[in-house]
Amino acid sequence: MPGIAVVTGASRGIGRACAVALARDGFEVWANYRSRDDEAEKLAEEVRALGGTCKLLKFDVADRAAAQEALAPLEETPAAVLVNNAGITKDGLFMTMSPDDWSSVLTTNLGAFYNVTRPVLKGMARARAGRIVSLASVSGQHGNKGQANYAASKAGIIAASKSLALEYGRWSILVNVVAPGFIETDMVAGLPKGELEKAVPLRRFGRPEEVASVVSFLASDRASYITGAVIDVNGGLYT
Ligand code: NDP
Repeated sequence: MPGIAVVTGASRGIGRACAVALARDGFEVWANYRSRDDEAEKLAEEVRALGGTCKLLKFDVADRAAAQEALAPLEETPAAVLVNNAGITKDGLFMTMSPDDWSSVLTTNLGAFYNVTRPVLKGMARARAGRIVSLASVSGQHGNKGQANYAASKAGIIAASKSLALEYGRWSILVNVVAPGFIETDMVAGLPKGELEKAVPLRRFGRPEEVASVVSFLASDRASYITGAVIDVNGGLYT
């Protein structure tokens, strides 16, 4: 099945692991990132070392015009897979959360779903095939103190994905969500790991590769009858 796999936020963390896994699966990777040229170049080298192809796309997923411009070629040459991974946090209790912290998280995390998915979906609709996998979070399923903005953005991604699964199933476009718990990346670097691990039944944070293997599965022929699903990758958190 391989073809083009677009991964947003691919320069670091979970997105990077997804890009590498999809390159191993034989996809040509289109790797988006926002600012870290050094990390993006390292990813591209790693993919090339695997014998794969990696095209770097530097743009802010919150910028609709930039996303449209970078992804426009995929309207003619459809992508096989889109991984909506780029995301940010700006945590704080709701009463003290600034308007900017509220809007920037919604605009980056949920706004990007619209900005990036639409141009990619146009090509997939022409091809009558495609896989869209978006990264949500346990916060979007259960809420989290200090993360009203982030939880709302991730719950929105789940609802939007389920809606797209209903709209485009008849065209063989499968739309799913992966909802991680605590995963060892820069995003969680400031958290009290020792304390938080105690709440995880598996007693540890996950690795980016453990999320990427599920994304790889959802992008593969093995997942041909799964759409509208939310797959937890959280070590048993909240079970
Ligand atoms: P990191 O902070 O480690 O990496 C974020 C990546 O996204 C980087 O590649 C960064 O690019 C890119 N990025 C951030 N903002 C933008 C933007 N506006 N436009 C384009 N690229 C952007 O994040 P994680 O790997 O931890 O998280 C990946 C996804 O998984 C996110 O959606 C997150 O919400 C979700 N998630 C993570 C969990 C965790 O515990 N880590 C738990 C649950 C969900 P650059 O390097 O250029 O800055």
